[in-house]
Amino acid sequence: MQIISDIHQIRKILKDIRQSGKIVAFVPTMGYLHQGHISLMEKAKKVADFVVCSIFVNPMQFGPNEDFERYPRNEKRDFELCESVGVDLVFLPKITDMYPIGHASKIVVSKVTEVLEGEKRPGHFDGVATIVAKLFNIISPHKAIFGQKDYQQSLLIKKMVKDLNFDIEIIVAPCIRSADGLALSSRNVYLREEERQIAPALFMALEKTKQLIENGETDRKIINAFMLKHLKKPEFSGRLKVDYAVSLLAEDLSDPDYFLAKDEVVLLIAVHLGKTRLIDNTKVTIPSKITF
Ligand code: AMP
Repeated sequence: MQIISDIHQIRKILKDIRQSGKIVAFVPTMGYLHQGHISLMEKAKKVADFVVCSIFVNPMQFGPNEDFERYPRNEKRDFELCESVGVDLVFLPKITDMYPIGHASKIVVSKVTEVLEGEKRPGHFDGVATIVAKLFNIISPHKAIFGQKDYQQSLLIKKMVKDLNFDIEIIVAPCIRSADGLALSSRNVYLREEERQIAPALFMALEKTKQLIENGETDRKIINAFMLKHLKKPEFSGRLKVDYAVSLLAEDLSDPDYFLAKDEVVLLIAVHLGKTRLIDNTKVTIPSKITF
């Protein structure tokens, strides 16, 4: 496995790889890798001949009061994990190469980024779109794999690729969870022991709400209130500070009063738990016919 930081060098290596007829798949990450990231790399291995993984904690997607400085990092362990999955090349760019003095461009994808994470974390998605576009231009993969864990991000990437004519197939892979349902995240390491016990509440709320919908509820107000109620249970002693807990149309995050039969719906939650911000989501299809 090669570990490359130099942009010119990686361009040259990948040009040769593409010219040899190999299909290149790319998995962008911020490192501190876990089984969720690994599942994306395994997917990449299945759909391509050559797998590139980038590790870059992108300052542009962190707000001024967010956790850029303390974001967990462990390059040595990350390299070992990449190697164990069969990643061919790790791209480890330097901040000064990605954002040299005078860097003045950004990519703004509107609409789908204006709610939820976009509203709670101003500028976050401009940072995500800009770094992903830069990485796409450096690596020129045939395919790129993203996690459904960051649902809104996956919509943004698909939109950017379509609007800006990137010739890259975007694959969205399922969210990997621990046994109790908590979605794996590099940030879970921030959770204190008692917070870690409460954290599966997001998954439980999503699952219960999914059942409500599968049993025939289509009224968004009722669905959203039900999901919120599950995050506000007395046993959590008010420790889950909810940023949002909503149901929306999965395709474009629009918010009809009522869902219709066969609509694909996404349930999305973001909470603060102590000093950690957690997000999670799940998809559910509105039944075509209710059977009791
Ligand atoms: P990050 O390192 O958090 O920026 O994530 C890099 C990629 O891994 C993104 O496409 C995420 O959506 C994806 N990812 C993060 N957590 C998970 C998970 N639990 N399951 C699947 N993919 C994930």
